[in-house]
Amino acid sequence: MIIPMRCFSCGKPIAHLFEPYEQMRKEGIPIEEIWEKLGITRFCCQRMLVSHVNIIDDLLNFNRLQ
Ligand SMILES: [Zn+2]
Repeated sequence: MIIPMRCFSCGKPIAHLFEPYEQMRKEGIPIEEIWEKLGITRFCCQRMLVSHVNIIDDLLNFNRLQ
């Protein structure tokens, strides 16, 4: 839904890195290079970005106030 502010396991702030991560993935940059550029070294933080699916825009279509 919405990217969590911090990594569930270690608490490192990761929410601000999701947009640059997505952008670099679209550009086709190798994943190891992306982790290096974003400064993400731990697997627990990497899984937060890799496993996130951004569905908030789809859910907003079901908002009753619209
Ligand atoms: Zn972590």
